[in-house]
Amino acid sequence: MATHFDVLGGFLPRDLFMNFSNKPVLVFWETTRACRLSCLHCRASAITESLPGELSTEEGYKLINAVRLFGKPYPTIIFTGGDPLMRKDLFELLRYASKSGVSFAISPAVTALLTKDALARLREARIASLSVSLDGSSPEVHDAIRGQPGTFERTIETISNALRIGTKVQVNTAIMKRNFRDLPDILHLIRGLGVDTWELFFLVKVGRGKCLEDLSPEENESVCNFLYEASHYDLTVRCVEAPFIRRVVKQRKESERYWNNLAAGYQTLHSRLVELEGYPRPGSVSTLATTGTLDGDGIIFVGYDGTISPGGLIPINLGNVRKDDIVDLYQNSKTLKDIRERKFNGRCGICEFKEICGGSRARAFSLSGDPLSSDPACILTETAAS
Ligand code: SF4
Repeated sequence: MATHFDVLGGFLPRDLFMNFSNKPVLVFWETTRACRLSCLHCRASAITESLPGELSTEEGYKLINAVRLFGKPYPTIIFTGGDPLMRKDLFELLRYASKSGVSFAISPAVTALLTKDALARLREARIASLSVSLDGSSPEVHDAIRGQPGTFERTIETISNALRIGTKVQVNTAIMKRNFRDLPDILHLIRGLGVDTWELFFLVKVGRGKCLEDLSPEENESVCNFLYEASHYDLTVRCVEAPFIRRVVKQRKESERYWNNLAAGYQTLHSRLVELEGYPRPGSVSTLATTGTLDGDGIIFVGYDGTISPGGLIPINLGNVRKDDIVDLYQNSKTLKDIRERKFNGRCGICEFKEICGGSRARAFSLSGDPLSSDPACILTETAAS
């Protein structure tokens, strides 16, 4: 029996349309670690002042030039932090990137620095999109996670102001034990505001996030199934550090039996979604794909001091943009090649879904010190261990 959430869709092997061996699609640049917020899950353990050793403006220009050497279409640079607005030269760097023909997006912190004027200047600088974090549908949930009372209201205001001047807004939500039941309400809120892209970050225990409780594999499975359904409401849904959602999408498309056997946690999320949003319109198609990136496979990260890593949550030092060629490192690093060639150990190594999924390399590394080990957040890994 077909359901409201089912879509007809085939599956193409990853190699047929996605190969990131030569260049990433995204280069994340941690422009600074300075930030006025102190979010519970901050990867960078951001602090209020810049750290010594931050790349200078000139070095930033050089980095932008180096990214161009990957060739056209250039990877998109994501200016991240800390809070990029804490850099005095941010708009010079954005202007330089714009003149260089590189597309770029920015993920500033929502603080008093993100004024209407700053939003207008970012729009003028031609950012492709503005990422704003929202971890709860109420001040109680969001402000507790972000560590600053008043951040929730400021965030809603910022999203509305940015959308009003025509800036594309992506809402980012970090998922953890304390907020995952709130996901349907967050979706309802952002859809009401007019946001069309929602990116969900599954917790990896690095930085300040080490003290937070992440979800069990069963809860992750429930959340992935909920997100599959959420992706049928004209909302682009993307996930970070949860590539196993691509397996879930494939399984949902292929077998009704799979989703009929889901845990109670899923039923609660599903019911609340339908209560708030009704069923998706007939014929709607999921915006989630069965292919995508992994750390080091389509993604590369440059730290505040130029250190190059496979991703922002996997602190493996591959080299430094001050002395190394980022193109050569991306293409030829053994670690990155092993990730791209899916030379994994354990359950991920023998998994029938490893080509489309591959597990979170950051989570595998944070728990075992081996970037090629299995991702313990996936329910298949748990089944294998029992
Ligand atoms: S076992 Fe590993 S590769 Fe397979 S679906 Fe789970 S995380 Fe992905």
